[in-house]
Amino acid sequence: MTTQDTVPQIGHLIGGEMSAGDFRDLHDPGRLDDVVAQVAVGTAEDVDRAVRAAHAAFPGWRDTPVSERVRKLLAAAELVAGSAGELAPLLVREHGGVLWEAQADFALGAGTLQNNVSLAKDFLRPVQFDDAQSFISVEKVPRGVVAAIVPWNMPVVLTMMKLAPALVTGNTLVLKPSPFAPAALTLVLEKIAAGLPPGVLNVVHGEGDVGAALSGHPLVRKVVFTGGTATGRKVIESTAPTIKNITLELGGNDPAIILDDADTDAVLDRILKGVFTRSGQICFAVKRVYVPRGRYQEFADALCDRVDEYAVGHGLDQRASFGPLNNEAQYKKVLGLLERTRNSSATLLELGRKLDPSSWDNGYYVLPHVVRDVEHTAPVSCEEQFGPVIPLIAYDDEEQVVSWANDSEYGLCSSVWTTDPERGLAMARRIEAGSTFINSHSFDALDLRMPFGGVKQSGIGREWTDTALSAYVEDHAIRRLK
Ligand code: NAD
Repeated sequence: MTTQDTVPQIGHLIGGEMSAGDFRDLHDPGRLDDVVAQVAVGTAEDVDRAVRAAHAAFPGWRDTPVSERVRKLLAAAELVAGSAGELAPLLVREHGGVLWEAQADFALGAGTLQNNVSLAKDFLRPVQFDDAQSFISVEKVPRGVVAAIVPWNMPVVLTMMKLAPALVTGNTLVLKPSPFAPAALTLVLEKIAAGLPPGVLNVVHGEGDVGAALSGHPLVRKVVFTGGTATGRKVIESTAPTIKNITLELGGNDPAIILDDADTDAVLDRILKGVFTRSGQICFAVKRVYVPRGRYQEFADALCDRVDEYAVGHGLDQRASFGPLNNEAQYKKVLGLLERTRNSSATLLELGRKLDPSSWDNGYYVLPHVVRDVEHTAPVSCEEQFGPVIPLIAYDDEEQVVSWANDSEYGLCSSVWTTDPERGLAMARRIEAGSTFINSHSFDALDLRMPFGGVKQSGIGREWTDTALSAYVEDHAIRRLK
């Protein structure tokens, strides 16, 4: 057990000062008797102080020249990139994922900041008309205090996707991290905040009650939320009384469609990263794979052979293909889904090996599971598993597979796998999703030039690109009649 004096204390960051009341222990999901950090437990009063600090800082930050805001935030991007060496191991210990995944969270976070911030000068330029009758200036003005609420699965990049467009456009921010991965994120945010005027960036820790107090606070003008669809509904309810602008990035049940001309080895080289990275706990992980019936046996056998080579263990063990699940609720949910699948007509295969069997029960570990001969309508195909479990579903023709891919309340990402580019594009255009990738579906599918977000109950709005910036400003139209 880690001794208390070596454990970092993670407080709130309000108005440029660290503060805390009560702390709670945060445990390593891969070594449950290890305390990773002590994290402040916030209250509605802490939220109110943070929102008032952000509100007070708003006029000064709004009136700071955009070139100055850009300069400070580009420096912040360097801080994020430079913090990976020091903080990624801590992120592994609080999150459960393996080291390269934690490093990728920092790298993608830094890239997001850098990219979004560099778009701001052009984006914020007013659109003006000057003719015989009038002078018109349409100006993009910040909204005010933005509340950002993030989950635990990719805390750094999901925060930077909000912090970058909010701050560069002149808003101030109050962020609530997830109680399941707040430590490394807060330590990097403290570094960023030190380079900004007090109150521009604030952090309050806590659970759902703190999130609800924040999203409902009357001085908050915009809420940007990433998390589960059920929580997203609560955010909509809490923002309704004061009619706040919202961006929601919610759950997903991403389909991957293998076409009959796909090259099995080439597909497996890439698709498995999309299934098992971060133990499947990624919003846009591949969550159901559709395989042509004529190729089902061959594809499923080859996939199972590869997955059987996986080794599961602590995220700091360099041999681990992936680590434990992040928290008890998620662990129980995945075990429950496996139990229901085991008791169904589908074939549930537990594959791979345990790296350290003696400590297996001291963490939320789950081996990779492949579900064969499973129906499109089975719970393991229809529900977001958020775990290392993948159903392989046989289909008969393209009409059927398109209708099955779209037969979901979700519509985050999706993929088509084929050796024929035209066929891939034609199929991609028929899928209801925020993004459709052809021949990829993992981190390597992402590109900062593409907006990210979902349709249907996967969310409202997009992050990344100019589209993200436009969610943080209002058009102020000014006309002088001549
Ligand atoms: P969650 O919805 O339980 O929690 C997300 C955040 O909301 C946490 O900070 C939590 O404390 C807070 N919260 C809880 N109740 C709240 C309330 N009533 N009001 C305001 N805030 C509240 O999600 P999670 O378990 O942390 O993350 C997993 C989910 O997030 C999955 O469904 C996953 O698909 C989704 N996700 C989506 C994206 C995306 O971009 N679409 C990215 C990552 C994760």
